Amino acid sequence: MPDQTNTIDSVDLLDLNAQYATIKDEINEAIQEVLDTQYFILGPKVEELEHQIEEYTGAKHAVGCASGSDALLLSLMAMDIQPGDYVLTSPYTFFATAGAISRLGAEPVFLDIDPKTYNIDPNQIEDFLKGKHPLNSRFGLKPNKVKAAIPVHLYGQMADMDPIMELSETYDFTVIEDAAQAIGAKYKGRNAGTIGTFGCFSFFPSKNLGGYGDGGIVTINNDELAERVRVLRVHGSKPKYHHHVVGVNSRLDAIQAAVLQVKLRYLDQWSDARREKALTYNTLFKEADVVADYDKLGCTPDCIPMGDDNCDMHELQNNIITPTEVEGDPANDGRHVYHQYVIRSGRRDELQEALNEANIGNSIYYPVPLHQQECFSYLDYKSADCPASMCASNQTLALPIYPELSTEEQQYVVDTIVNTLNS
Ligand SMILES: *Cc1c(COP(=O)(O)O)cnc(C)c1O
Repeated sequence: MPDQTNTIDSVDLLDLNAQYATIKDEINEAIQEVLDTQYFILGPKVEELEHQIEEYTGAKHAVGCASGSDALLLSLMAMDIQPGDYVLTSPYTFFATAGAISRLGAEPVFLDIDPKTYNIDPNQIEDFLKGKHPLNSRFGLKPNKVKAAIPVHLYGQMADMDPIMELSETYDFTVIEDAAQAIGAKYKGRNAGTIGTFGCFSFFPSKNLGGYGDGGIVTINNDELAERVRVLRVHGSKPKYHHHVVGVNSRLDAIQAAVLQVKLRYLDQWSDARREKALTYNTLFKEADVVADYDKLGCTPDCIPMGDDNCDMHELQNNIITPTEVEGDPANDGRHVYHQYVIRSGRRDELQEALNEANIGNSIYYPVPLHQQECFSYLDYKSADCPASMCASNQTLALPIYPELSTEEQQYVVDTIVNTLNS
Protein backbone atom coordinates (compact mmCIF):
# COMPACT_ATOMS: atom_id res chain seq x y z
CA MET A 1 0.00 0.00 0.00
CA PRO A 2 1.17 3.55 -0.62
CA ASP A 3 2.50 5.41 2.34
CA GLN A 4 -0.55 7.20 3.74
CA THR A 5 1.53 10.10 5.00
CA ASN A 6 2.85 10.82 1.55
CA THR A 7 0.86 13.77 0.27
CA ILE A 8 2.52 13.95 -3.15
CA ASP A 9 0.04 13.59 -6.00
CA SER A 10 2.15 14.45 -9.04
CA VAL A 11 5.79 14.41 -10.13
CA ASP A 12 7.30 16.02 -13.22
CA LEU A 13 9.68 14.05 -15.43
CA LEU A 14 11.98 17.05 -15.23
CA ASP A 15 11.41 20.32 -13.38
CA LEU A 16 13.59 23.07 -14.83
CA ASN A 17 11.75 25.69 -12.79
CA ALA A 18 13.08 24.12 -9.61
CA GLN A 19 16.62 24.48 -10.92
CA TYR A 20 16.08 28.04 -12.14
CA ALA A 21 14.75 29.03 -8.72
CA THR A 22 18.10 28.10 -7.15
CA ILE A 23 20.23 30.21 -9.56
CA LYS A 24 17.81 32.90 -10.70
CA ASP A 25 19.83 35.94 -9.65
CA GLU A 26 23.08 34.69 -11.14
CA ILE A 27 21.40 33.76 -14.41
CA ASN A 28 19.53 37.03 -14.74
CA GLU A 29 22.69 38.98 -14.05
CA ALA A 30 24.67 36.98 -16.62
CA ILE A 31 22.03 37.53 -19.29
CA GLN A 32 21.83 41.23 -18.44
CA GLU A 33 25.57 41.48 -18.97
CA VAL A 34 25.19 40.19 -22.51
CA LEU A 35 22.33 42.57 -23.17
CA ASP A 36 24.51 45.46 -22.01
CA THR A 37 27.21 44.55 -24.54
CA GLN A 38 24.81 43.74 -27.44
CA TYR A 39 27.38 41.14 -28.57
CA PHE A 40 25.22 38.11 -29.35
CA ILE A 41 26.98 35.63 -31.66
CA LEU A 42 30.26 33.92 -30.63
CA GLY A 43 32.56 36.56 -29.11
CA PRO A 44 34.12 36.79 -25.64
CA LYS A 45 31.35 35.02 -23.66
CA VAL A 46 31.48 32.03 -25.99
CA GLU A 47 35.29 31.95 -25.88
CA GLU A 48 35.19 31.98 -22.08
CA LEU A 49 32.78 29.08 -22.07
CA GLU A 50 34.94 27.17 -24.56
CA HIS A 51 37.93 27.53 -22.25
CA GLN A 52 35.86 26.45 -19.26
CA ILE A 53 34.70 23.34 -21.12
CA GLU A 54 38.31 22.63 -22.10
CA GLU A 55 39.23 22.84 -18.44
CA TYR A 56 36.23 20.82 -17.31
CA THR A 57 36.72 17.95 -19.76
CA GLY A 58 40.49 18.12 -20.10
CA ALA A 59 40.18 18.33 -23.89
CA LYS A 60 42.69 20.61 -25.62
CA HIS A 61 40.01 22.41 -27.64
CA ALA A 62 36.32 23.08 -27.31
CA VAL A 63 34.40 24.68 -30.16
CA GLY A 64 30.90 26.00 -29.51
CA CYS A 65 28.21 25.47 -32.13
CA ALA A 66 24.45 25.72 -32.59
CA SER A 67 23.37 22.30 -31.27
CA GLY A 68 24.44 18.80 -30.35
CA SER A 69 23.20 17.70 -33.76
CA ASP A 70 25.52 20.20 -35.41
CA ALA A 71 28.40 19.11 -33.17
CA LEU A 72 28.04 15.67 -34.77
CA LEU A 73 27.62 17.10 -38.26
CA LEU A 74 30.67 19.38 -37.94
CA SER A 75 32.80 16.48 -36.66
CA LEU A 76 31.83 14.30 -39.61
CA MET A 77 32.44 17.22 -42.00
CA ALA A 78 35.87 17.83 -40.48
CA MET A 79 36.72 14.22 -41.37
CA ASP A 80 35.38 14.80 -44.87
CA ILE A 81 32.80 12.03 -44.61
CA GLN A 82 31.38 11.51 -48.09
CA PRO A 83 28.46 9.78 -49.81
CA GLY A 84 29.15 6.06 -49.84
CA ASP A 85 31.16 6.10 -46.61
CA TYR A 86 29.90 3.97 -43.74
CA VAL A 87 29.55 5.28 -40.23
CA LEU A 88 28.88 2.69 -37.54
CA THR A 89 26.46 3.61 -34.80
CA SER A 90 23.78 2.45 -32.41
CA PRO A 91 20.14 2.22 -33.47
CA TYR A 92 19.09 2.85 -29.89
CA THR A 93 19.67 6.58 -29.58
CA PHE A 94 18.16 9.95 -30.34
CA PHE A 95 17.63 10.49 -34.06
CA ALA A 96 20.33 13.17 -34.41
CA THR A 97 23.12 10.59 -34.14
CA ALA A 98 22.16 8.97 -37.41
CA GLY A 99 20.65 12.10 -38.95
CA ALA A 100 24.08 13.74 -39.07
CA ILE A 101 25.49 10.75 -40.96
CA SER A 102 22.65 10.74 -43.44
CA ARG A 103 22.77 14.45 -44.11
CA LEU A 104 26.25 14.03 -45.57
CA GLY A 105 25.03 11.26 -47.83
CA ALA A 106 26.97 8.68 -45.86
CA GLU A 107 25.38 5.43 -44.77
CA PRO A 108 24.64 4.69 -41.12
CA VAL A 109 25.40 1.09 -40.23
CA PHE A 110 23.28 0.13 -37.24
CA LEU A 111 24.93 -2.32 -34.87
CA ASP A 112 23.09 -3.65 -31.86
CA ILE A 113 23.49 -2.64 -28.24
CA ASP A 114 24.59 -4.40 -25.10
CA PRO A 115 21.21 -5.00 -23.42
CA LYS A 116 22.73 -4.34 -20.03
CA THR A 117 24.01 -0.81 -20.66
CA TYR A 118 22.00 0.10 -23.80
CA ASN A 119 25.26 1.22 -25.43
CA ILE A 120 26.69 -0.12 -28.69
CA ASP A 121 28.21 -3.57 -28.28
CA PRO A 122 31.91 -3.53 -29.27
CA ASN A 123 31.64 -7.20 -30.28
CA GLN A 124 29.16 -6.21 -32.96
CA ILE A 125 31.64 -3.63 -34.26
CA GLU A 126 34.42 -6.19 -34.32
CA ASP A 127 32.28 -8.73 -36.16
CA PHE A 128 31.35 -6.12 -38.74
CA LEU A 129 34.94 -5.03 -39.31
CA LYS A 130 36.00 -8.65 -39.71
CA GLY A 131 33.23 -9.16 -42.28
CA LYS A 132 31.62 -11.72 -40.02
CA HIS A 133 28.49 -9.80 -39.10
CA PRO A 134 25.23 -10.96 -40.74
CA LEU A 135 24.86 -7.46 -42.24
CA ASN A 136 28.10 -7.86 -44.20
CA SER A 137 26.79 -10.74 -46.23
CA ARG A 138 23.15 -9.77 -46.42
CA PHE A 139 23.72 -6.32 -47.83
CA GLY A 140 27.23 -6.86 -49.18
CA LEU A 141 28.53 -4.22 -46.76
CA LYS A 142 32.30 -3.92 -47.04
CA PRO A 143 34.24 -3.24 -43.85
CA ASN A 144 36.84 -1.13 -45.66
CA LYS A 145 34.21 1.54 -46.32
CA VAL A 146 33.91 2.27 -42.59
CA LYS A 147 35.24 5.80 -42.07
CA ALA A 148 33.90 6.55 -38.63
CA ALA A 149 31.96 5.22 -35.67
CA ILE A 150 29.68 7.17 -33.35
CA PRO A 151 29.30 5.41 -30.01
CA VAL A 152 26.59 7.07 -27.90
CA HIS A 153 26.93 7.43 -24.13
CA LEU A 154 23.26 6.75 -23.53
CA TYR A 155 21.42 7.94 -20.43
CA GLY A 156 24.68 9.30 -18.99
CA GLN A 157 26.78 6.14 -18.96
CA MET A 158 29.72 5.92 -21.32
CA ALA A 159 30.03 3.22 -23.96
CA ASP A 160 32.79 0.63 -23.58
CA MET A 161 35.44 2.80 -25.25
CA ASP A 162 38.65 0.75 -24.92
CA PRO A 163 37.73 -2.01 -27.38
CA ILE A 164 36.18 0.58 -29.71
CA MET A 165 39.37 2.68 -29.74
CA GLU A 166 41.49 -0.42 -30.25
CA LEU A 167 39.39 -1.41 -33.27
CA SER A 168 39.60 2.14 -34.63
CA GLU A 169 43.38 1.90 -34.66
CA THR A 170 43.47 -1.55 -36.24
CA TYR A 171 40.89 -0.71 -38.90
CA ASP A 172 41.69 2.98 -39.27
CA PHE A 173 38.48 4.88 -38.69
CA THR A 174 37.57 7.95 -36.64
CA VAL A 175 35.68 7.71 -33.37
CA ILE A 176 33.19 10.48 -32.64
CA GLU A 177 31.68 10.32 -29.17
CA ASP A 178 28.03 11.30 -28.96
CA ALA A 179 28.27 12.65 -25.42
CA ALA A 180 25.06 14.69 -25.64
CA GLN A 181 23.67 12.90 -22.57
CA ALA A 182 26.94 12.44 -20.76
CA ILE A 183 28.72 15.65 -19.84
CA GLY A 184 30.75 14.90 -16.71
CA ALA A 185 30.58 11.12 -17.21
CA LYS A 186 33.75 9.09 -16.80
CA TYR A 187 35.12 5.85 -18.25
CA LYS A 188 38.10 4.35 -16.40
CA GLY A 189 38.89 7.79 -15.01
CA ARG A 190 38.70 9.50 -18.41
CA ASN A 191 36.14 12.15 -19.25
CA ALA A 192 33.37 11.83 -21.80
CA GLY A 193 34.35 13.53 -25.03
CA THR A 194 38.11 13.12 -24.62
CA ILE A 195 38.68 9.52 -25.72
CA GLY A 196 37.54 9.63 -29.32
CA THR A 197 38.89 12.13 -31.86
CA PHE A 198 35.77 14.26 -31.29
CA GLY A 199 33.38 14.64 -28.37
CA CYS A 200 29.95 16.05 -29.17
CA PHE A 201 27.85 17.71 -26.49
CA SER A 202 24.37 19.20 -26.53
CA PHE A 203 23.15 22.11 -24.44
CA PHE A 204 19.49 21.42 -25.22
CA PRO A 205 17.55 22.71 -22.16
CA SER A 206 16.73 19.24 -20.80
CA LYS A 207 20.32 17.96 -20.97
CA ASN A 208 22.39 17.74 -17.77
CA LEU A 209 24.02 21.03 -18.74
CA GLY A 210 21.19 22.78 -20.54
CA GLY A 211 21.04 26.28 -21.98
CA TYR A 212 17.96 28.42 -22.48
CA GLY A 213 17.69 27.48 -26.13
CA ASP A 214 19.71 25.36 -28.54
CA GLY A 215 23.46 24.99 -28.24
CA GLY A 216 26.28 22.49 -28.53
CA ILE A 217 30.04 22.08 -28.35
CA VAL A 218 32.70 19.84 -29.87
CA THR A 219 35.75 18.80 -27.86
CA ILE A 220 38.90 17.94 -29.82
CA ASN A 221 42.51 17.24 -28.90
CA ASN A 222 43.96 17.60 -32.39
CA ASP A 223 44.93 21.24 -33.24
CA GLU A 224 44.34 20.98 -36.96
CA LEU A 225 40.93 19.32 -36.63
CA ALA A 226 39.87 21.90 -34.04
CA GLU A 227 40.75 24.67 -36.47
CA ARG A 228 38.79 22.88 -39.19
CA VAL A 229 35.68 22.75 -36.99
CA ARG A 230 36.10 26.44 -36.12
CA VAL A 231 36.18 27.31 -39.80
CA LEU A 232 33.33 24.96 -40.78
CA ARG A 233 30.97 26.54 -38.23
CA VAL A 234 31.26 29.93 -39.96
CA HIS A 235 30.53 28.82 -43.54
CA GLY A 236 34.10 27.66 -44.07
CA SER A 237 35.23 31.26 -43.93
CA LYS A 238 38.90 32.02 -43.22
CA PRO A 239 39.88 34.77 -43.35
CA LYS A 240 36.46 36.39 -43.33
CA TYR A 241 34.73 36.25 -46.74
CA HIS A 242 37.32 33.81 -48.12
CA HIS A 243 36.08 30.24 -48.45
CA HIS A 244 38.29 27.23 -49.14
CA VAL A 245 35.57 24.85 -48.04
CA VAL A 246 31.79 24.97 -47.81
CA GLY A 247 30.78 25.05 -44.17
CA VAL A 248 27.55 25.72 -42.32
CA ASN A 249 26.11 28.43 -40.10
CA SER A 250 26.42 26.89 -36.68
CA ARG A 251 27.43 29.28 -33.94
CA LEU A 252 26.79 29.42 -30.23
CA ASP A 253 25.00 32.49 -28.87
CA ALA A 254 26.54 34.69 -26.19
CA ILE A 255 23.33 34.51 -24.13
CA GLN A 256 23.54 30.71 -24.10
CA ALA A 257 27.22 30.86 -23.18
CA ALA A 258 26.43 33.23 -20.30
CA VAL A 259 23.74 30.91 -18.94
CA LEU A 260 25.95 27.85 -19.37
CA GLN A 261 28.86 29.51 -17.56
CA VAL A 262 26.65 29.93 -14.50
CA LYS A 263 25.30 26.39 -14.69
CA LEU A 264 28.69 24.79 -15.28
CA ARG A 265 29.70 25.88 -11.78
CA TYR A 266 26.96 23.64 -10.38
CA LEU A 267 27.23 20.74 -12.81
CA ASP A 268 29.25 18.35 -10.64
CA GLN A 269 27.07 18.93 -7.64
CA TRP A 270 23.97 18.32 -9.80
CA SER A 271 25.47 15.15 -11.29
CA ASP A 272 26.22 13.82 -7.81
CA ALA A 273 22.63 14.60 -6.80
CA ARG A 274 21.31 12.75 -9.85
CA ARG A 275 23.31 9.68 -8.90
CA GLU A 276 22.07 9.94 -5.35
CA LYS A 277 18.47 9.96 -6.64
CA ALA A 278 19.25 6.95 -8.82
CA LEU A 279 20.62 5.03 -5.86
CA THR A 280 17.54 6.00 -3.83
CA TYR A 281 15.29 4.55 -6.56
CA ASN A 282 17.43 1.39 -6.61
CA THR A 283 17.08 1.03 -2.84
CA LEU A 284 13.34 1.70 -2.76
CA PHE A 285 12.67 -0.81 -5.55
CA LYS A 286 14.88 -3.37 -3.85
CA GLU A 287 13.13 -2.89 -0.53
CA ALA A 288 9.81 -3.46 -2.32
CA ASP A 289 11.29 -6.71 -3.62
CA VAL A 290 10.57 -6.07 -7.30
CA VAL A 291 14.10 -6.01 -8.71
CA ALA A 292 15.12 -8.92 -10.91
CA ASP A 293 18.71 -10.07 -10.99
CA TYR A 294 19.81 -9.15 -14.47
CA ASP A 295 22.44 -11.84 -14.75
CA LYS A 296 20.00 -14.56 -13.77
CA LEU A 297 17.60 -13.50 -16.50
CA GLY A 298 20.05 -14.57 -19.14
CA CYS A 299 18.89 -11.50 -21.00
CA THR A 300 21.12 -11.63 -24.03
CA PRO A 301 20.04 -10.92 -27.58
CA ASP A 302 19.89 -14.72 -28.04
CA CYS A 303 16.95 -14.99 -25.68
CA ILE A 304 14.92 -12.52 -27.68
CA PRO A 305 12.74 -14.13 -30.33
CA MET A 306 14.35 -13.30 -33.65
CA GLY A 307 12.18 -11.57 -36.19
CA ASP A 308 9.57 -10.67 -33.66
CA ASP A 309 9.04 -7.15 -32.39
CA ASN A 310 7.06 -8.53 -29.56
CA CYS A 311 9.93 -9.21 -27.25
CA ASP A 312 8.73 -11.49 -24.52
CA MET A 313 10.78 -11.66 -21.38
CA HIS A 314 8.61 -13.83 -19.15
CA GLU A 315 10.72 -13.25 -16.10
CA LEU A 316 9.98 -9.56 -16.20
CA GLN A 317 6.25 -9.66 -15.42
CA ASN A 318 6.17 -8.96 -11.70
CA ASN A 319 9.56 -7.38 -11.42
CA ILE A 320 11.78 -4.88 -13.17
CA ILE A 321 15.41 -4.30 -14.02
CA THR A 322 16.92 -1.14 -12.58
CA PRO A 323 19.85 0.61 -14.34
CA THR A 324 23.09 -1.32 -14.31
CA GLU A 325 26.30 0.59 -13.74
CA VAL A 326 29.08 -1.08 -15.71
CA GLU A 327 31.32 1.50 -17.41
CA GLY A 328 29.75 4.06 -15.07
CA ASP A 329 30.50 2.06 -11.92
CA PRO A 330 32.77 4.03 -9.55
CA ALA A 331 34.46 0.71 -8.78
CA ASN A 332 35.66 0.78 -12.42
CA ASP A 333 36.73 4.43 -12.08
CA GLY A 334 33.57 5.34 -13.94
CA ARG A 335 30.86 7.88 -13.42
CA HIS A 336 27.28 7.48 -14.58
CA VAL A 337 25.66 10.92 -14.59
CA TYR A 338 22.08 9.66 -14.92
CA HIS A 339 20.76 11.89 -17.63
CA GLN A 340 17.90 9.41 -17.42
CA TYR A 341 16.89 6.78 -14.90
CA VAL A 342 15.49 3.97 -17.02
CA ILE A 343 13.85 0.77 -15.83
CA ARG A 344 12.74 -2.19 -17.89
CA SER A 345 9.68 -4.33 -17.58
CA GLY A 346 7.74 -6.87 -19.61
CA ARG A 347 4.64 -4.85 -18.64
CA ARG A 348 6.04 -1.48 -19.60
CA ASP A 349 2.90 -0.10 -21.24
CA GLU A 350 0.82 -0.98 -18.20
CA LEU A 351 3.32 0.75 -15.92
CA GLN A 352 3.26 3.79 -18.15
CA GLU A 353 -0.51 3.95 -17.95
CA ALA A 354 -0.37 3.75 -14.16
CA LEU A 355 2.21 6.54 -14.01
CA ASN A 356 0.11 8.72 -16.31
CA GLU A 357 -2.91 8.14 -14.13
CA ALA A 358 -0.90 9.11 -11.05
CA ASN A 359 0.30 12.32 -12.76
CA ILE A 360 3.88 11.10 -12.85
CA GLY A 361 5.99 12.28 -15.77
CA ASN A 362 7.62 9.47 -17.72
CA SER A 363 8.93 8.82 -21.19
CA ILE A 364 10.03 6.08 -23.53
CA TYR A 365 13.54 6.62 -24.88
CA TYR A 366 13.22 5.40 -27.61
CA PRO A 367 10.02 3.77 -28.84
CA VAL A 368 11.28 3.02 -32.37
CA PRO A 369 14.93 2.13 -32.88
CA LEU A 370 16.54 3.93 -35.79
CA HIS A 371 16.93 0.82 -37.95
CA GLN A 372 13.12 0.67 -37.99
CA GLN A 373 12.49 4.34 -38.81
CA GLU A 374 10.65 5.03 -42.02
CA CYS A 375 13.33 7.39 -43.31
CA PHE A 376 15.84 4.53 -43.15
CA SER A 377 13.55 1.95 -44.71
CA TYR A 378 15.67 2.16 -47.89
CA LEU A 379 18.43 0.44 -45.91
CA ASP A 380 16.09 -2.56 -45.61
CA TYR A 381 16.93 -3.60 -42.03
CA LYS A 382 14.67 -6.09 -40.32
CA SER A 383 13.69 -5.57 -36.70
CA ALA A 384 15.62 -8.72 -35.81
CA ASP A 385 18.85 -7.21 -37.15
CA CYS A 386 19.13 -5.41 -33.81
CA PRO A 387 17.12 -7.58 -31.40
CA ALA A 388 18.47 -6.08 -28.18
CA SER A 389 17.50 -2.61 -29.39
CA MET A 390 14.02 -3.81 -30.36
CA CYS A 391 13.60 -5.39 -26.97
CA ALA A 392 14.79 -2.27 -25.17
CA SER A 393 12.33 -0.17 -27.17
CA ASN A 394 9.53 -2.43 -26.00
CA GLN A 395 10.52 -2.58 -22.36
CA THR A 396 12.22 0.59 -21.17
CA LEU A 397 10.64 3.44 -19.27
CA ALA A 398 12.32 6.61 -18.01
CA LEU A 399 11.27 7.86 -14.59
CA PRO A 400 11.55 11.39 -13.17
CA ILE A 401 15.11 12.29 -12.27
CA TYR A 402 16.66 15.66 -11.55
CA PRO A 403 18.73 17.08 -8.70
CA GLU A 404 15.81 18.74 -6.89
CA LEU A 405 13.60 15.61 -6.84
CA SER A 406 12.52 14.83 -3.28
CA THR A 407 12.55 11.43 -1.57
CA GLU A 408 8.78 11.73 -1.03
CA GLU A 409 8.32 12.20 -4.75
CA GLN A 410 10.54 9.21 -5.46
CA GLN A 411 8.57 7.14 -2.97
CA TYR A 412 5.33 8.08 -4.76
CA VAL A 413 6.82 6.99 -8.11
CA VAL A 414 8.04 3.71 -6.64
CA ASP A 415 4.72 3.01 -4.86
CA THR A 416 2.83 3.54 -8.09
CA ILE A 417 5.06 1.10 -9.95
CA VAL A 418 5.16 -1.49 -7.19
CA ASN A 419 1.38 -1.44 -6.77
CA THR A 420 0.94 -2.01 -10.49
CA LEU A 421 3.45 -4.85 -10.54
CA ASN A 422 1.72 -6.51 -7.58
CA SER A 423 -1.76 -6.10 -8.99
C1 LIG B 1 20.09 15.55 -27.47
C2 LIG B 1 20.88 14.60 -28.26
C3 LIG B 1 21.48 14.95 -29.47
C4 LIG B 1 21.22 16.24 -30.20
O1 LIG B 1 21.37 17.37 -29.50
P1 LIG B 1 20.61 18.72 -29.93
O2 LIG B 1 21.33 19.76 -29.17
O3 LIG B 1 19.19 18.56 -29.52
O4 LIG B 1 20.76 18.88 -31.41
C5 LIG B 1 22.29 14.02 -30.10
N1 LIG B 1 22.47 12.80 -29.58
C6 LIG B 1 21.89 12.41 -28.44
C7 LIG B 1 22.17 11.05 -27.90
C8 LIG B 1 21.07 13.29 -27.74
O5 LIG B 1 20.48 12.88 -26.61
